[in-house]
Amino acid sequence: MSNNHIEVWNNCLKVIKDNIAEQSFATWFEPIRPVSLTDGTLLVEVPSSFFVEFLEAHFIDHLRAAIKRFIGPTGKLAYKIRMDSSDPSYTVTLPSSNRNFPKNPIGRPAPETLSQSPINPFAIPGLKKPQIESQLKENYTFDNFVEGDCNRLARSAGLKVAQEPGKTAFNPLLIYSGTGLGKTHLCHAIGLEAKRLHPDLTVLYVQAEQLYNQYATAAKNNNRPDFIRFYQMIDVLIIDDIQFLAGKTGTQEAFFHIFNYLHQNNKQLVITSDKFPTELQNMETRLLSRFKWGLTADLQMPDIETRTFIIKEKLYLNGIVLPDEIIQYLANNVRTNVRELEGVMISLMAQSSLNKKAITIEMTQQIIDRFVRNTIKEVSVEYIINIVCDYFKIPPEQLSLKTRKHQVVQARQIAMFLSKRYSNASLASIGQQCGKKDHATVHHACKTISNRLETDKQFRVMFSDIEKKVTLQS
Ligand code: ADP
Ligand code: MG
Repeated sequence: MSNNHIEVWNNCLKVIKDNIAEQSFATWFEPIRPVSLTDGTLLVEVPSSFFVEFLEAHFIDHLRAAIKRFIGPTGKLAYKIRMDSSDPSYTVTLPSSNRNFPKNPIGRPAPETLSQSPINPFAIPGLKKPQIESQLKENYTFDNFVEGDCNRLARSAGLKVAQEPGKTAFNPLLIYSGTGLGKTHLCHAIGLEAKRLHPDLTVLYVQAEQLYNQYATAAKNNNRPDFIRFYQMIDVLIIDDIQFLAGKTGTQEAFFHIFNYLHQNNKQLVITSDKFPTELQNMETRLLSRFKWGLTADLQMPDIETRTFIIKEKLYLNGIVLPDEIIQYLANNVRTNVRELEGVMISLMAQSSLNKKAITIEMTQQIIDRFVRNTIKEVSVEYIINIVCDYFKIPPEQLSLKTRKHQVVQARQIAMFLSKRYSNASLASIGQQCGKKDHATVHHACKTISNRLETDKQFRVMFSDIEKKVTLQS
């Protein structure tokens, strides 16, 4: 009698198949597995709690009729959620009552909003059972991610999360840094390591932009619930560049549900951002507050020693040898971010092999000048003032005048902002040179300019013209 549950379920399926659309059957019934039949209760395994909701909403009559026919009038159906084996089974007595249902954060979807086939945007074609392509880059490993003071916390938290996904306090793990400092690399490293250690887990790396595009398509086709359901099946979900979702309220809302569901079910979330969470504008506060549940760790620009290690690591990976002198020169002179450091190295190697020339300091310098716009060695405040005043066609002395003339105030604020960004001068010294102001005024000016850069497109265009002059001419 041990296979009785299979026989009973197969009989049920035959009847149901005859009565519903082929596509619906394939989508909602084929993934179901019978588990046992005890005391008139047929236990079946389903991929998610959403499945239970959907089956109950759309096929309850068919299920009820089939169970009644093959088990008897007192027959019951119970569901077990497959994705998380620690989940308890949910017994649903037929006729069903919603009270016993697992919580579904997205609630019961309106029937017309559900498509007949679930979205699996990362399906591996040719395989019957939907499998998820993790989108992980094999060469972005922990081994290749050089450790330094600049990344120690984020790196070790990432490693911990990969070892015990969903089981540490680092959930979500939020990694933030400026561009080119290793967020994406670390994401892939976490994903690869999690997969290596836990081959059964479903790991997915996705850029927030992809998430947004998929959501937009789902919304257009009226199948948001499928979109959400797909992401709720993931065990380790890694979302890169979450700042992309700023202002995208629909996707944020959907992500909120995904987040809650995964978090409640002890699934691991890893999120990166190019801003500190509180600085993410146009992001729902309830989403931001969720990010604080876990750990926020930043990545800084590596110090010279770590930069040297990174260069050596990349050279080693590419099988290339550079004289120590050049390595030191690079580490000393590219101080913007690791991506630019890499860019210079690649150009250097390309140039040298194309021109069949040995790499020299001179050549390195030229390439740095060409490729790393922001690597400015010594920019003085005076130099910046001259460029800004020249741009606005006002004599530099005017910056010291006590005037409320917009043009002058604006020039002074831009000069202060650029000086803070590109000179080594202290706020006090910048203030002194830009019209004998104190450091608080400089601070205020920098804030004003930041705000305008975020909100005023025309201003942004003008500003970047001036900034280019500062960075290119130096
Ligand atoms: P982000 O996503 O923060 O913009 P990336 O992860 O794309 O930055 O990193 C840019 C490049 O710098 C990548 O090629 C990455 O491998 C490299 N990189 C950054 N930090 C490190 C590090 N600590 N060790 C080795 N490579 C690094
Ligand atoms: Mg990135």
